[in-house]
Amino acid sequence: MDFSIAAEDQQRLETLRRLGREEMRPAGWRADRAGAPLPVDDPFFVRMLAEGFGRTHWRPPGEAASEGAAQPAAPNQASSAAAQVLLAEEGAYWDRGISVALPGPGLGEPPILSMGTPEQKARFLLPFVNPQRPIWGGFAMTEPSGGSDVANIRTRARLDGDHWVLNGAKSFSGNSGRAEWIVVFATIDPALGRAGHRAFVVERGTPGLVDFRIEKKMGLRAYESTSFFLSDCRVPVANMLGGEAYYMQRSGGFKGAMNTFNAGRPAIAGMAVGIGRAVLDEAAAFMQANGLASDLRLRDRMERSRRKLKAALLLALRAAWLADQSKPNMVEASASKALAPPAAFEAASFAMEVMGPAAGRGEHLIEKLFRDVKALDIVEGTGQIQRVVMARHLVGLPN
Ligand SMILES: Cc1cc2nc3c(=O)[nH]c(=O)nc-3n(C[C@H](O)[C@H](O)[C@H](O)COP(=O)(O)OP(=O)(O)OC[C@H]3O[C@@H](n4cnc5c(N)ncnc54)[C@H](O)[C@@H]3O)c2cc1C
Repeated sequence: MDFSIAAEDQQRLETLRRLGREEMRPAGWRADRAGAPLPVDDPFFVRMLAEGFGRTHWRPPGEAASEGAAQPAAPNQASSAAAQVLLAEEGAYWDRGISVALPGPGLGEPPILSMGTPEQKARFLLPFVNPQRPIWGGFAMTEPSGGSDVANIRTRARLDGDHWVLNGAKSFSGNSGRAEWIVVFATIDPALGRAGHRAFVVERGTPGLVDFRIEKKMGLRAYESTSFFLSDCRVPVANMLGGEAYYMQRSGGFKGAMNTFNAGRPAIAGMAVGIGRAVLDEAAAFMQANGLASDLRLRDRMERSRRKLKAALLLALRAAWLADQSKPNMVEASASKALAPPAAFEAASFAMEVMGPAAGRGEHLIEKLFRDVKALDIVEGTGQIQRVVMARHLVGLPN
């Protein structure tokens, strides 16, 4: 295995480090103190746009290489899955909530890239090629009845002439309240199970896309997690990702969603490691400043935490490396996603204990990181679900 990264990715890493220190951590702290996501018109987003954030991976067909090169490189978009893990780690080191709050097509982009027709990619991703203002995309799978049992989503899609009519409720969808469009997963018939899944791009302002509510969160407050309803929401046939032919392949819609998750899990693991590294750096600084560095037991616990984080990062890099080689990585992706958040949580608990009241008053970065890290065990498949996936694989059951 070779985990070395391209020179341009190294450059992105350094840019991210500078912006993380100067911009991202202060902005994340500001949102946390306010207890609310950064508003759409926050000048921070305009500054980040100028730094190259907010762009799509997709390139218009026939675009000359020089046109692409003329645009600033997006500091959070790597040229390989392995480098993406390292960028995710660095971004989360400074502020994981801000990493998600940044403009761009977000989690909605992978299903459009993997399932969309050329016409759909152009329609929905062209605005993100060189955006003149901060714009967002959204992804909505989770429903109030539960997010883990992805195969049994309840949002219904019914064909009516040249429109699909969507009815249902979605929850905890990142940035969807401010999104230009949301990739919404629904079923044409729950009895069909996974084969009944379809993905629709629901554009902002579509009648029936209603009742957006920003959820209250214990951590990661910098970005909005939104619940909303689809109430006789009429979506043009042309907005069903891939067109009906795509779904004639076995379980196409479900597979499209799962591809999104398999690609994202090593990066989520990297984010957890980044938060873990941040808490241990803060704890080390506190120990040095308060005469605790000579305590053998504290040093031992800190070293153990650091070792677990490093092991989790190596596993995430291996999962990403396999993806880069176009090899199956489901088990490794799940293993890294199952391992890294608990390791980061353990590091954060250790840091809270070392700092005692200095952290417990809720005015120190450590306490914010302690609240932020929990979500990493939940998003894109909980730790339990990763273990279910791996255990089924071990005994030869399909996933
Ligand atoms: C910060 C944040 C951002 C998110 N962003 C998005 C987003 O952008 N788009 C989106 O669609 N969703 C998003 N989600 C939702 C996320 O995907 C779900 O929270 C997640 O899938 C878990 O679903 P749930 O919370 O409904 O828990 P449930 O599925 O109800 O599970 C509850 C508990 O039971 C456990 N459990 C469930 N089934 C099993 C089983 N078979 N075996 C063992 N244990 C099991 C789970 O691990 C969990 O601990 C986000 C969530 C958070 C917290």
